[in-house]
Amino acid sequence: MAGTGKFVVGGNWKCNGNTASITQLVKDLNKGEIDADVDVIVAPPMLYLPKVQSTIDRQFKLSAQNCWVSEGGAFTGEVSAEMLADANVPWVILGHSERRALCGESDEFVGKKVAYAIKNGLSVMACIGETLQERESGATQDVCRRQLQAIVNELSAGDWEKVVIAYEPVWAIGTGKVATPEQAQETHAGIRAFMASAVSQDVASKVRIQYGGSVNGQLQELAKQEDIDGFLVGGASLIGDAFITICNSA
Ligand code: PGA
Repeated sequence: MAGTGKFVVGGNWKCNGNTASITQLVKDLNKGEIDADVDVIVAPPMLYLPKVQSTIDRQFKLSAQNCWVSEGGAFTGEVSAEMLADANVPWVILGHSERRALCGESDEFVGKKVAYAIKNGLSVMACIGETLQERESGATQDVCRRQLQAIVNELSAGDWEKVVIAYEPVWAIGTGKVATPEQAQETHAGIRAFMASAVSQDVASKVRIQYGGSVNGQLQELAKQEDIDGFLVGGASLIGDAFITICNSA
């Protein structure tokens, strides 16, 4: 079963850049021509969101890279979903493997964050994916299902309109080791089948599933796969023309 949604590409700038480099990146992106039938979302570091918001073309939507799981208050260092909505930032990336690994975010915590962000009107790129050890032991589908189940537990079927699933094998992130188109397609098809059984056939056919992890190599082949509905891009999203090429790869 293939997805039916519009191609969607996210650029995760992670903890990179400064005023000068971000000014240049925005200029380079603004020069790019993007196919009309692609949703493009960029996620600058939190501190630079207002600057990017005021200078980037309307064809790029904005995302944060994280937000908190409840209303603001005594949560030093956090930014709430309410604050993002108030600042007109419509998207947020949640459950990125770097946050799962480095900040100890559990499946359940990510599920609660996704639900809270949606409750506050945000759209979410929700990241899942297996480590190299998990892939080598044949656990890829189980890991993806477990991570997704924790999100399914918190959402109603209607909430899935606000979610893009980003499948990012941890071993492919920032390593230059891209999953083969066959590996990616197989996992994406498994994710869609899981969504059909855990939520509904309707949600499974509509939910968009991005591939992420060293997207740059094998671009055209990946983009052609039936169940790949877009990309979530790290390193290459910091290079204007490379990112535009990825956006137009559908
Ligand atoms: P990468 O990162 O494209 O640099 O591999 C992808 C991601 O972490 O979203």
